[in-house]
Amino acid sequence: MYKRIFKLFSNNRRLIHYSSGKPPAILHKSVFGKEIFDTFEGIPQKSWSEWSQIRQELLTNKAFNEHNIDAIILGQCISKNNCSLGNSFIDYLNKEEIKFNLATTAKYFSLLYLLNRDNRFLYGKTLKTKEEELILDRYNSLRKKYEILDSITLEGSISALSLTKDWKKCITLLEDIKLTKIPSNLSYSVTASAAFLNNEIDIGWSLLQQMILDEKNIDNIVYYAYLNYLKATKNDIKIELEKLFMFLQENDIVIESDVALKISEFGNESGLTNFATAVSKRADCRNCNQKLEKFDLDNEEFAALKTAIFKNVIVGRDIFVKTNPNEVNRFNEFISAQEEFDVVLDGLNVAFSAGTRHSPQVFSSLVASVVSYFVKQGKKVLVVGRYHMKQWPRDNWSFINQNATVFLTNNISQDDPYLLYCALNSGKNTIIVTRDLMRSHKFLLKETKLRILFNRWLSQRQYQLVKVTAEGNPFFRFPPSLTFSAQKNGQYWHIPFKPCQDSNISWLCIKF
Ligand SMILES: [Zn+2]
Repeated sequence: MYKRIFKLFSNNRRLIHYSSGKPPAILHKSVFGKEIFDTFEGIPQKSWSEWSQIRQELLTNKAFNEHNIDAIILGQCISKNNCSLGNSFIDYLNKEEIKFNLATTAKYFSLLYLLNRDNRFLYGKTLKTKEEELILDRYNSLRKKYEILDSITLEGSISALSLTKDWKKCITLLEDIKLTKIPSNLSYSVTASAAFLNNEIDIGWSLLQQMILDEKNIDNIVYYAYLNYLKATKNDIKIELEKLFMFLQENDIVIESDVALKISEFGNESGLTNFATAVSKRADCRNCNQKLEKFDLDNEEFAALKTAIFKNVIVGRDIFVKTNPNEVNRFNEFISAQEEFDVVLDGLNVAFSAGTRHSPQVFSSLVASVVSYFVKQGKKVLVVGRYHMKQWPRDNWSFINQNATVFLTNNISQDDPYLLYCALNSGKNTIIVTRDLMRSHKFLLKETKLRILFNRWLSQRQYQLVKVTAEGNPFFRFPPSLTFSAQKNGQYWHIPFKPCQDSNISWLCIKF
């Protein structure tokens, strides 16, 4: 097992991935031009006459004009990750004295960013004076010409400026973008990375917190930049590294294997023993033998989640579209009189677990089997379902009603909000039986922190029905015995990461 994980690491040693670092590709507006753009793959440059011919040929089609052609060509070079060819086209434009409009300039900034990104953020080197001057001159002349920039040009400018000594301008430009939209993952990430590399740690962290609030994914470059800050800092690196691990923990972030590799290399350089390892089903780390934890919600967190689900998911605007107020009132009465249940069962989800093309006899017997399984264990069961289930075959339906409490909603209502609330209302330890991951409901929760709590609660309390045998014995996928989140167990930090070629989570075990 260890060997396999190490192999995953070593196979990817030369391949550094950027989770959201790729600039958006400009789609060519028609099939016309595709053959030309296909020739952009894998060749480092084109001659003056080749560029001239490509430009002329594209301009014969009305999808292309003098205003968009250069940005499209440059965008194609970038989307094919061919920076060298992009540079060759820039040389051509300069020789021809073709002026860069806003769209071309934005693409040129993206190209300059891609050309210098690794040197700056991955290796922590400063830009050569010539490169830096090129970016700053181009940006300053742009600002002289235009007082207000569109968000695409702003984002291109941020990418390029983040590499330079004038990186703090990115903070102002982020504010400009916010006037019309939420900044992109990349704009936030490059600015935070620049802050870390320039030893402005508080600015870096505050940007990362902002990204979490805005539901943005943190690009790998941020972690690389932070590790480069650690290499240069006089602060205690263990304390600084723990700040990063705590951030991963608080936000349930699972890093990519490339980032784990860089953390591991940094650990080796800094004398922190670490191994890529696996954790057993019983939650034991195979490297240090420490038991990993399951993070339970504390009482305050649980109460906050329950209130938010009721406010945003049950009474929220969305549910009223499909439900009438009478039903919500009936539900209110039901829950105020409700006892606590050990198990809350998603009736239709269980019924349809073997597919929707079966007979009501099959649907009802699946639900009856699951009810029976829990009742035999002495558990109190609630089945949430819809009115039409009343038409199920009498024997199974009577069994369900005699052994469980049943709450039915209108046939057109969504029943899962009720299911969620009944489970939460029954208490912290109630089991919820459904295969539904409830994503759409999670997104109705407005705060990121509540969404994280929701994930933690559901993943720990959810039983997913896999099958019911011919004898009527159900098999479930049980909640994992640990939380897949960065955690300190004894002297060891455990950092989960996604291996490239495997769906299972692996762990970095670091001795502190
Ligand atoms: Zn360990």
